[in-house]
Amino acid sequence: MSEVINGRALAEEVLSSAKQKFQKIERKVTLSIIRIGDDQASLIYIRNKEAAAEKLGVEVKKNHFPKETEFNKVSALIDELNADESVDGILLQLPLPEHINPRLLIDRILPEKDVDGLTSINQGKLFVSDDSGIRPCTPMGVLYMIKSICNNISGMYAVVLGRSATVGRPMAQLLLRENCTVSIAHSCSKNLPDICRQGDIVVSAVGCPLFVKADWIKEGAIVIDVGINRDQNNKIIGDVDFLPISRVARAISPVPGGVGPMTVAYLMHNVVAAASERYE
Ligand code: NAP
Repeated sequence: MSEVINGRALAEEVLSSAKQKFQKIERKVTLSIIRIGDDQASLIYIRNKEAAAEKLGVEVKKNHFPKETEFNKVSALIDELNADESVDGILLQLPLPEHINPRLLIDRILPEKDVDGLTSINQGKLFVSDDSGIRPCTPMGVLYMIKSICNNISGMYAVVLGRSATVGRPMAQLLLRENCTVSIAHSCSKNLPDICRQGDIVVSAVGCPLFVKADWIKEGAIVIDVGINRDQNNKIIGDVDFLPISRVARAISPVPGGVGPMTVAYLMHNVVAAASERYE
């Protein structure tokens, strides 16, 4: 049986290191969270982020807009928060209502306050290996989980399922920076099981329940499940068929209790880093 990667325990490690840095900042640290519309999952994610912030001592200011709010109204708020010296980090909770182009709004956030690490500037810095940018939370959390199993992953073959700008692409960049050989697969990829079977590391960020099957996984692989889906009973499940894969893999992350807590922990890491950077 494989080792189950305990995201909650690893998240505590990341939070504790963020707390040490936080304690050196001799002023209030503030995270501003913007929510548009009434996506129920977003509400839960924001509650988790607030709870982590509270634990650390970071103040959270929330702004909620109704679903039909125009782009200009939200972008005006972002401009205000960018200019507000007391705000260290700005988080735009995704997904946005369909009439708003997320890229345009994300890129309105000052890169140094972009604690989700999703602006084109911060993503571009990751792409060109410029370490001065803020890194996206979920991929950073996944990398920490992988390295908790194997610290040196240089030369390993990594397969990333999903190519979104928030997870798949930055994930592949981080793995490339660790000297992995990386394949990114997506909905147009052919022979997905064959591609997966090559992976010493498989990261699934597809958003399809139980998508990755045991016979897609090479014996001894590290399997990380980013997916968050609901089954018929509204229970949260991942992309990965956990039990059968845990008989093949060297290590596997569960859902829930895997990547989710790591994402929140890295958000706090980024908020503290943004706050210390701006005043050092
Ligand atoms: P997304 O933007 O919808 O991207 C999904 C990706 O999966 C796309 O690249 C898509 O390919 C690919 N895909 C979809 N169906 C496929 C199929 N049948 N075969 C192969 N590839 C397929 O989603 P996301 O934002 O990256 O998130 C992915 C999952 O992770 C979701 O379940 C989300 O809820 C979860 N998530 C979890 C956390 C966390 O903290 N745990 C954080 C972020 C996201 P195309 O590009 O070709 O369409």
